[in-house]
Amino acid sequence: MTGELKVPFITRWSDEREVSRADLCLSTKGLFYRHDDAADRDKFGALWARTVGRAGVGEPRFRDVSFSRQRQAMRDLLCQVCAGPASTTRLGTLFLLEGTVRSAAELEEEPTGQPPLCLPCARLSREQCPRLVRRYTAVRAKKPTIWGVFGVPYLPPTPFLPAMGGLVPEPRTLQVGYGRADLRFVLAHQLLRQLRRVTVIDLDAELARSPAGQL
Ligand SMILES: [Zn+2]
Repeated sequence: MTGELKVPFITRWSDEREVSRADLCLSTKGLFYRHDDAADRDKFGALWARTVGRAGVGEPRFRDVSFSRQRQAMRDLLCQVCAGPASTTRLGTLFLLEGTVRSAAELEEEPTGQPPLCLPCARLSREQCPRLVRRYTAVRAKKPTIWGVFGVPYLPPTPFLPAMGGLVPEPRTLQVGYGRADLRFVLAHQLLRQLRRVTVIDLDAELARSPAGQL
């Protein structure tokens, strides 16, 4: 598989663009779309960004994720690269977390927007994803629990910033848990799971143990 460049399932393509602002409104109760659709809001009350365009059209934007496919992969625990089932063993579901190598205690209850992986794609990602080539921690989580969203917060309207027409996205993104009051002022881009009952694993050892036919 080495050398084969695969466009991950969750990667956004240049044809896919966000169009939320064209219809987005704000009141003291929160964000909403002028022309609301049941699919815009999830069952926990978060309002999701809208996009147009198709995967596979134009160029892949490897630094960006498709909001809808990230959400689907995270919700259904699909591999973020091939969209097949993520690898799950008695230790839980496989995640590769970029950045400094950390312990299970440090990662316990951490929210993540990185959907899980299957073993073959974990090996491929480690070799080809620039963010993982330098450093990563491979973990399995027995209870990766739906936690909240990553998105763009909008300032609640005030007497000085009237609602409807006073839409001001804050120049930052944040993670917000389901159930928090400020969730209604956040436009969701990604679904987050909280990693619980985490075990740090040796990915090389797992790959070596896997039957060759599965890789
Ligand atoms: Zn995969």
